[in-house]
Amino acid sequence: MPFCESCDRFYTPSTLTPEGDCPQGHHVADPEDAGQFIQSTAPPREEDRAAKVPWHFWVLLVAVVIYLGYRAIQMTGWLIHWLGTR
Ligand SMILES: [Zn+2]
Repeated sequence: MPFCESCDRFYTPSTLTPEGDCPQGHHVADPEDAGQFIQSTAPPREEDRAAKVPWHFWVLLVAVVIYLGYRAIQMTGWLIHWLGTR
């Protein structure tokens, strides 16, 4: 967390300029350090999420589809029975 001694407060990395200055213009961090915490080298989150879906997600999805299918069949049978008793 970058701290500005002149302002006597902490700043989030995104509020600092790329030069490492606080919004009041004081120098807080070195540009190399500022670049390190302002610009992430990690790829954008959406790209990452689309690229790899964990295998257990598909296992869970298949399990849910099978379970809901079973419940749907069960409910249809129950509905036919209920209609027959009327
Ligand atoms: Zn400042």
